[in-house]
Amino acid sequence: MKSLYFKFAVTTIFIMLFSGLLAFIGANSYYQQKLKPENDEKNTRIAQDIANYASRHADMSMEDYFNHIAGIGYQIMLTDRSGREEYFGAEFRNKELPVDVKEKVLSGSIYHGMADFPKETFVTGFFANEVRNTIGVPLQHSGKEFAIFIRPDVKLLFSEMHVLLAWLMGLSILLSILFVLIGTKFLVQPITELTRATQKLAHGDFAVKLDIERSDEIGELAYSFTHMAEKLDQLDEMRKELISNISHDIQSPLSNIKGYVNLLENPDADTEERKQSLDIINREINRLSGLTKQLLMLASLDSSLNEVRLSQFDVSEQLKEVIKSYQWALQEKELMIGYSLPETKITGDTSLLYAVWDNLMSNAVKYNRPHGSIEITVSERQGEAEIVFQDTGIGISGSELKRIFDRFYRADASRTSSIEGSGLGLSISAAIVRLHNGTIKVESDKDKGTAFIVRIPQM
Ligand code: ADP
Repeated sequence: MKSLYFKFAVTTIFIMLFSGLLAFIGANSYYQQKLKPENDEKNTRIAQDIANYASRHADMSMEDYFNHIAGIGYQIMLTDRSGREEYFGAEFRNKELPVDVKEKVLSGSIYHGMADFPKETFVTGFFANEVRNTIGVPLQHSGKEFAIFIRPDVKLLFSEMHVLLAWLMGLSILLSILFVLIGTKFLVQPITELTRATQKLAHGDFAVKLDIERSDEIGELAYSFTHMAEKLDQLDEMRKELISNISHDIQSPLSNIKGYVNLLENPDADTEERKQSLDIINREINRLSGLTKQLLMLASLDSSLNEVRLSQFDVSEQLKEVIKSYQWALQEKELMIGYSLPETKITGDTSLLYAVWDNLMSNAVKYNRPHGSIEITVSERQGEAEIVFQDTGIGISGSELKRIFDRFYRADASRTSSIEGSGLGLSISAAIVRLHNGTIKVESDKDKGTAFIVRIPQM
């Protein structure tokens, strides 16, 4: 597998080289189309000036004059009809000329060797040190006809620039490759770190610590990743806690059942003892069955697949049904019940909401004092139905209030006073209310009892 670093570095370097090539082709076509004719025109003017000056000064030594011109940066070839060739300035690398050219120039025409220099030679043609790459002009001196072929001595004029440019190009290529290699490392390194963290996470190690402080997309990814790891850690903790709670809650009724089954097996046990044992076994089985139902309900509420079957119904009517089903329990505990249940329509899932009222009612009964009372009221407020269960029970202390909606949480008072419960009812109720976009609040006073206030949007 090729690493991301390798791919990124190679792609960038390839892009650099490719764009360099494109730039070269662009510059070349600019040179061919525009600079080359301009250069030819400029040098033709210079050559003509040089020739004119020599023609006008018949008494001047041509040799001195051309040596002088060569000295300021030109390469010159001087020729006449006799075929004599004289060179001034730096030597031409190639002294060949197409046939007839000398003849034509001697006869008065101008040779545009620069403009006609072959196109395939790219921009480098500009530097070609050949007699073919010159401007040829006729020249008369002391009544004789000559032809001069002249070109600027690029080497002399540009030699420092040349070296400087070469250095500049070479250095910029080298430096960009170096920076691409370093920059890529900087870009890819956090991804390598993230990959390592993901592997750790996959092996169940949630304590991942990423040392990535950046304000770009990778920084955001690292932040979300750390956040996700924390959430997974919490979920893992919750899962472990849930399993230990469930195991404990299943284990205790099972050991009770086992104990009483052992008692039943005892041939000396009398009828009364047997009846008692069977009663307890029955109660524990009911407890286990209730717990499983609650767990199933929690699981279905947790899964987003849970379907809410909405319908419009009178919540007061439903509450009356709940009260009726508790008639016997109320009497047994000698509790007073008062209610104000005017017709109030709400939209919701009837069976889920029934479970909420049933749980609040059962708590109001379970955690009440003997001869206490329960008050249930329904009212409408700003498009919401408010349902209040107020009891005169044992109350919940301030520190415990925050936790009563947590799964398996049971306040100390209820645990120690051997009131049965799983600690799941309120967390289920809260989940159902949330599913209806409603709210559930609790107000409690150790002496006066507890009030649960549920608000459900009516539409
Ligand atoms: P359970 O009643 O099965 O223990 P719940 O989730 O219904 O579980 O309630 C969680 C805890 O909140 C209870 O154990 C109890 O300590 C406290 N609680 C709930 N309702 C009342 C109430 N009406 N009065 C006093 N304490 C309450």
